[in-house]
Amino acid sequence: MEEIGHWIDGKRVAGKSGRFADVMNPATGEVQAKVALASQAELDAAVASAAAAQVKWGATNPQRRARVLMKFVDLLNRDMDKLAEALSREHGKTLPDAKGDVQRGLEVVEFCIGAPQMLKGEYTDSAGPGIDMYSMRQPIGVAAGITPFNFPAMIPMWKLAPAIACGNAFILKPSERDPSVPLMLAELLQEAGLPDGVLQVVNGDKEAVDAILDNDTIGAVGFVGSTPIAAYIYERGCANGKRVQCFGGAKNHMIVMPDADMDQAADALVGAGYGAAGERCMAISVAVPVGDETADRLIEKLVPKIEKLKVGPYTAGNDVDYGPVVTAAAKANIERLVQSGIDQGAELVVDGRGFSLQGYENGFFLGPHLFDRATKDMDIYRTEIFGPVLTTVRAQTYEEALGLAMDHEYGNGTAIFTRDGDTARDFASRVNVGMVGINVPIPVPLAYHTFGGWKKSAFGDLNQHGPDAFRFYTRTKTVTARWPSGIKEGGEFSIPVME
Ligand code: NAD
Repeated sequence: MEEIGHWIDGKRVAGKSGRFADVMNPATGEVQAKVALASQAELDAAVASAAAAQVKWGATNPQRRARVLMKFVDLLNRDMDKLAEALSREHGKTLPDAKGDVQRGLEVVEFCIGAPQMLKGEYTDSAGPGIDMYSMRQPIGVAAGITPFNFPAMIPMWKLAPAIACGNAFILKPSERDPSVPLMLAELLQEAGLPDGVLQVVNGDKEAVDAILDNDTIGAVGFVGSTPIAAYIYERGCANGKRVQCFGGAKNHMIVMPDADMDQAADALVGAGYGAAGERCMAISVAVPVGDETADRLIEKLVPKIEKLKVGPYTAGNDVDYGPVVTAAAKANIERLVQSGIDQGAELVVDGRGFSLQGYENGFFLGPHLFDRATKDMDIYRTEIFGPVLTTVRAQTYEEALGLAMDHEYGNGTAIFTRDGDTARDFASRVNVGMVGINVPIPVPLAYHTFGGWKKSAFGDLNQHGPDAFRFYTRTKTVTARWPSGIKEGGEFSIPVME
């Protein structure tokens, strides 16, 4: 069986801890590889060597660093099919979706090619007599990223591209569920000219994560994953004096107003609710039609579209709308939550239970589910299900619908479907959620804007990619300079004030 190790100092190396996790093929339910789980000693050694490599990389001019990323973009395009295949085989998502995963990461790399512009500091000429003042953005040193299974290409690139562009060395701890693509990215970066040691990929579980959080050399940690782990990492990383940003789970509401184009709204809900088997932090998992008449019309449009969805392995090509979920445990958890919805009184109008695919009986496939008339107190409404389950909560007024999104503990994304500009504007302005779509169901900002949720969906004060990424991965230093001709005789004993 294939053993997947780490990427250290520009080479694939075997794990030394003797601990491994299974890497599944979600479509067949078979173990297809074993991934090494790093010990604290392995992580610490990777960090020490990254710190040594960073000295030269940090001193390399930003334009040369950007050229490595430019070449990396070419190589990502060259190997797009290979990357997507490896991604689908471990994650289970369809090939077009896997290509989208690589593409959205690639776009962040493209944005980071602009590092020389983004890293320019501020300058004030003659801030005082003979005095100039300027600021510099300097790398943190060694930064680390801990990433989830659901975007094994995009999210590692969200982290590593700006970190490296800013002159840091970077330790990537990807998800142990789909470790192959992050290692392929490291190989491509080496081919693009990244010096060995600047990027280290260390596979692992809690032991490797704790080693990152406790390592004194690592100055900044970026995390994406579920909210309980995000909260844990934020607390432990901050307690150890690091700069930490953690992005967590979601329960994204889509409000459907009576004046919405109901065909558009239903199409949007099907794509945003069931695409990638619902395993997206920006998936719409709650539909909130306003008024019973809107709800009835929406459900009537949704049901046949959902019943027509094609579920299957990525190898079936474009014929498949979504694939299996990632593990048997994820499947069992989704099934448990569906049962709780039934037990707590929601109406299961599309019943995906008992779904089985001929030839793939052991795969982690789930049929699509649609609940109607769910209420705020139910587990299917309160919990992030992360599966192909869309829950409808009927609201009687716009204010009630807005209140649902506002009161939920998560605040990653939300959307409103309406033709009324006033309502859309009011919603975008008042809702306490980080990313808002107006007739756009999955409002993921492009690479040059920032991405981040509010409430329990994010911890820390800067977003991912966009200008915030350059702030997160650098420290600002401000220099006040005066040359001898500007210095007055005699010492100064009171606080300096500019003349
Ligand atoms: P997860 O929290 O289980 O794992 C994320 C990372 O944390 C992995 O690298 C994993 O190895 C590590 N980890 C897991 N348990 C740990 C522990 N006890 N201690 C230390 N580290 C641990 O998340 P997942 O299942 O891989 O991903 C799905 C979750 O990620 C969903 O909740 C989804 O909403 C969220 N997500 C959020 C965003 C966002 O930007 N807000 C984006 C994508 C995914």
